[in-house]
Amino acid sequence: MKKRLLAGVATGLLLLNLSGCGWVADVLHLELTPSTTETTTEATTAPPTTLPLVTDPPATMDPNEPRIVGVSSKGYQIVEDHGLTYVNGVLIVNKKYSVPEDYGPGDLTPECSAAFNELVQAAAADDIDIFMISGFRSYELQTSLYNRYVARDGQAAADTYSARPGHSEHQTGLALDVNSLSYSFADTAEGQWLAANAHRFGFIIRYSKDKQAITGYAYEPWHIRYLGKGMAAAVYESGLCLEEYFGIISAYS
Ligand SMILES: [Zn+2]
Repeated sequence: MKKRLLAGVATGLLLLNLSGCGWVADVLHLELTPSTTETTTEATTAPPTTLPLVTDPPATMDPNEPRIVGVSSKGYQIVEDHGLTYVNGVLIVNKKYSVPEDYGPGDLTPECSAAFNELVQAAAADDIDIFMISGFRSYELQTSLYNRYVARDGQAAADTYSARPGHSEHQTGLALDVNSLSYSFADTAEGQWLAANAHRFGFIIRYSKDKQAITGYAYEPWHIRYLGKGMAAAVYESGLCLEEYFGIISAYS
């Protein structure tokens, strides 16, 4: 994914250099590096990009052209590319950042799937049974799930535990739910093993306990997000949720 992003970045840079400059006054060339000081993981090793900051693209600009749409409170560039939002090469999906309706790999991505299989096997070696109960979800499926929850509990309540269509990590093929959609899962041997070991296989517990005001979601001990081993370990060791780690927000506009 990172290679593809960097390729897109290079292409965008070329196109920007070749395109007209009537809006060049809106463009600020930035070379920012993250302000975080961890040095042991890939979290800080991505090279800085030199995309323009374009928060209000002119009509003449290809909306799919990669561009920086902002800088996080921790100094990370927020890059939009083909309707997807990346921070430090990590695809971000939350209440602020969505994915296009037609986006989706149709299944867990190969990297996520392989990492999960590795996790399952390591758990089994510890006599822990971890299994997937929900993986990839299309925009259409999320729409029907969300609408059902809104009809049952009302929108305000539904928004605390179910993503609006286009805002679900499940649509990326990089997130899955395991074992049980019950808060008591956290207290089981399986839930405790997952919380302590998921990062070793590239996953984080995405919606941490006591972080609802920041992630936008109640604690979900069963929902794991694939980040890759280096990034997952960095986020786990920081004790921060993903939004805090990158300095981004999660709120519907
Ligand atoms: Zn989930």
